[in-house]
Amino acid sequence: MKLHTKILLGLLLGAALGTSANVFAHNPPWVQWFATNVASPVGQIFLRLLLMTVIPLVFCSIVLGVAGLGDIRKVGRVGIRSISYFLISTAISATIGIVLVNAARPGEGLPPALRDQLMAAYQSQVQGLQAGGPSKFGVDMLVNFFPRNPIQAAASMDMIGLIVFSLIFGAALTLIPEEKAKPVIRVLDAVGEAIVKIIGMAMRLAPYGVFGLIFYVTSRLGLDIVRKLGAYVVVVILGLLLHGLGSLSVLVRVAGGLRPTVFFSRIRDSIVTAFSTSSSNATLPTNIAVAEQELKIPPEIAGFVLPLGSTMCMNGTALFEGVTVLFLAQLFGISLDLPTQMVVIVMSVITAVGAAGVPGGSLPLLMVVLGSVGVPPEGIGVVLGVDRILDMCRTTVNVVGDLTAAVYVARTETEWDPRSVSSDVKVAA
Ligand code: ASP
Repeated sequence: MKLHTKILLGLLLGAALGTSANVFAHNPPWVQWFATNVASPVGQIFLRLLLMTVIPLVFCSIVLGVAGLGDIRKVGRVGIRSISYFLISTAISATIGIVLVNAARPGEGLPPALRDQLMAAYQSQVQGLQAGGPSKFGVDMLVNFFPRNPIQAAASMDMIGLIVFSLIFGAALTLIPEEKAKPVIRVLDAVGEAIVKIIGMAMRLAPYGVFGLIFYVTSRLGLDIVRKLGAYVVVVILGLLLHGLGSLSVLVRVAGGLRPTVFFSRIRDSIVTAFSTSSSNATLPTNIAVAEQELKIPPEIAGFVLPLGSTMCMNGTALFEGVTVLFLAQLFGISLDLPTQMVVIVMSVITAVGAAGVPGGSLPLLMVVLGSVGVPPEGIGVVLGVDRILDMCRTTVNVVGDLTAAVYVARTETEWDPRSVSSDVKVAA
């Protein structure tokens, strides 16, 4: 059996068994024991095998990417192209969310008593988010992009700090004499290859890891709360499907020249990894491997665009944020006029760029957006109970968006030919 198929089977089996245990058996103690002592540890080991590669991988791939592009002007052009694509695709996604939530108005049907009950139930988690997250935007945020100490940035998983240092280091390598830069590049190249091997090992564990992660989440997920917030959940998921399958297909076709069916059939490993880990960072290693091996994207482009995308390009997150802000506004009876809704779109795009690629990474920033348009930030407690399931879905769209960006940049900046991907499918078939 192919590895893709095994991973997919792990996902489906984990979801089916976890959900059945919750719905039919009400998560009895032995299921809880299994979830905590077997499923979760296996899932966590898989996750950590991926996460342990992220820091060295981001450093190596960005430095090699910048050095591979060679000239600083080209790096600048590729960077601007990538960031423009990130912003445009994220804005399209947020707009789809805002249009849908205005049409469906899921916040109006929910009883205020349920709202207060949910807010009380999740109060302590909300306080935790408030304490941990930033309270405002400003110049400080920009200054903080530049780390004082790159090792510290890496140790605290400050991805933007690490990316900025890697970009500057890669650029500096192109400016020193070639015979001095070469040994560094050779070492980083070898480190990168070893990391790819680790990712290969992690992916062998993926069918079991994915099973464990999904079983753990679904067996504990209160389906009751999903049902109560059904209309909101449906709007978010529908929006994500429309953007993920609709707009991203159009973008990959028009901007990347690649047939959407070929594109989606090639990126299955990334989709399943994103869905089961809810983390763009944890999916980055798989994403780079998929881009290079399945989509045949040149390593200097994949290694440059995808790490940037994994923290800056979050299409699904922006859609989720826009829908949630309007949903909560409807729930609190606050009407937001058109200009304010435009502000919500812009803020959702900006905060999606700033959100960390970890499970729930966007929640502290979402509270900032809520506060800035006059919706009580504590209202986020209403949706926390369903956040994990929505996080799985939005992270998948984030990761697919990153891959479409890599396809677009490869098409416009290199000799990469979309036909090389399709023809390979025929050979394999
Ligand atoms: N979990 C998301 C990601 O890693 C971020 C978020 O929306 O919370 O892409």
